Amino acid sequence: MRFPQTFIEDLKRQADIVRIVQDYVALKKAGTNWRAPCPFHKETKPSFNVNPSKEMFFCFGCHKGGTVFNFIMEMERVTFPEAIKIVAEKSGVPLPKMIDDDRFETRKRDSDQVIDLNQWALQWWQDQLQSKAATSVRQYLKQRGLTEETVQTFKLGFAPDSWEALSTHLRQKGATQEQIEQSGLVVKKDEGGSYDRFRGRLIFPVFDTQGKPIAFGGRTLDPDGDPKYLNSPETPAYTKGRHLYGLHLTRDEIRRQGFAILVEGYLDLIVPYQFGVRNLVASLGTALTPEQVKLVGRFARKVLVNYDGDRAGVQAAKRAIETILAEDIEVKVLVLPDNADPDDFIRKHGVSEYNRRRGEAQPHIQFVIDQAVRDRHLNSPADKAAAVEETLPFVRAVRNRIQKREYFDIVMDGLRVQREQRRELWQQVRGGVSTDAVAVQKVFGRAVKPTVAEEKLLGLLLANDELRNIILPKLAPGDYEGLATAAIFRALKELGTAEKEITYESLSEATADNPVAAEILPRILINEPAESFDESLTDAERCLNSIRLERLNQIVDELTQQIAETERAGNIEKLIELQHRHLEVTKERDAVDALLPRGHSIRPA
Ligand SMILES: [Zn+2]
Repeated sequence: MRFPQTFIEDLKRQADIVRIVQDYVALKKAGTNWRAPCPFHKETKPSFNVNPSKEMFFCFGCHKGGTVFNFIMEMERVTFPEAIKIVAEKSGVPLPKMIDDDRFETRKRDSDQVIDLNQWALQWWQDQLQSKAATSVRQYLKQRGLTEETVQTFKLGFAPDSWEALSTHLRQKGATQEQIEQSGLVVKKDEGGSYDRFRGRLIFPVFDTQGKPIAFGGRTLDPDGDPKYLNSPETPAYTKGRHLYGLHLTRDEIRRQGFAILVEGYLDLIVPYQFGVRNLVASLGTALTPEQVKLVGRFARKVLVNYDGDRAGVQAAKRAIETILAEDIEVKVLVLPDNADPDDFIRKHGVSEYNRRRGEAQPHIQFVIDQAVRDRHLNSPADKAAAVEETLPFVRAVRNRIQKREYFDIVMDGLRVQREQRRELWQQVRGGVSTDAVAVQKVFGRAVKPTVAEEKLLGLLLANDELRNIILPKLAPGDYEGLATAAIFRALKELGTAEKEITYESLSEATADNPVAAEILPRILINEPAESFDESLTDAERCLNSIRLERLNQIVDELTQQIAETERAGNIEKLIELQHRHLEVTKERDAVDALLPRGHSIRPA
């Protein structure tokens, strides 16, 4: 299937490459070229160039370049013919009739053949599931709560534990060895010949939107079986990441309800479906692709992501959210309690409880914020920078500008980011396509660097065991959690409690992955303070008070800002509470301040 060459060349000339690229990248004019930070690699400087007179783009950073079609292929991850369609649509140019050439015909014939063989295999596997050999499989399905009707609806089957039973059946139906090998139903042997791919497995057929079987998943019934799920390879009928499981059954309900529930596995779809929740699709293990999102986007512009609540599920959900937002589709997230997947949850708590929870699903941004603040201390600037860095991609991915700003404000409020830093971050989010870690760190940069006081205190603690034994018990997490060097203080406390030796090695190990620690540990450890013990103790206490003063000042500032905002919003109750807190912290601050001798604050030596 291809377009006439003359059409492609005409289209390239008619398409305005600057305007089309601008749909994705905020280009700025620079001489004859237009420039922006590159959308294909992480950067803040604009190395990405578009030259309208040459009808080309090129990035000096990652060296990607080409025509408007190459840009769309890269950006939308589509094939050349699909890129032509997109460019034509964006340029308002009607498409000509396509040339059906031999290659297309061959591919279509191959694809139809694979589907024929899949039909035969599926019918046979369905029959096998009713056989005596499959008693334990039927038992398993019953135990998972699946009714006979559901088994029929989803056309589940059973592949017997044999190396050749299916191949033999296909040959009897008239398939050639070549066709059988092309279908992916068998695995080719190096020495020639082949054996059945699915053996001793429960079969879940995957259908295209027209309901044709294009691939299969086979679940092992052996508790030690590996892999748990075995999938079809790519064939002329099946390209990974192009299909969604269950869509042929659920598309109308998705359209009717106006949203799709996205789940992970076969049973996460089948079980809710049996209980009457029918606007689902399953992404099936692999990361959700833009093609899959476009596919579901044909039926609804809202998606509710309902993945497992475990760590892997949350990571997968976050990746899915980004992909969905990029297609300009609204996303909500449903996390079920106790890390339950939809299958488990519905069987345990019933469908009405599932529907109730579904009604309370969070907008994607709230889910992302919750994940970002989990295991982090927002009063630590380093942690806050990391949380912001983790969250901003989900704001940037929002296409609608007004919504983008709303989500941005929600994130900034949720992460309690100061007004000055908000302004800088918004410039980044609004401007470029990619804000990288470095740019975010820079905004928080002033705060992320260790202060002289904390570095000096650490130096004293590391150099002197006796001093450490006095000072460490006095240190509360609140004293150090806000510091750039929090990881080192935390490690010192932990090693102290475990009565482990404090050395460069043990500290490095305990602060692994912390860039600040990696940088300053050697520097601190190499110093041998030449002070007497008494002098060291006085210094250490002074450093500690200086750190406390700094922190309290910061809290006072934050409260002052919150009070101003609350006053504007007219929330009297909250205002009184904040003013009360402000008074308390100010008192505490002044008390610490009084302990520090005037003119003796800690300064660089
Ligand atoms: Zn680049």
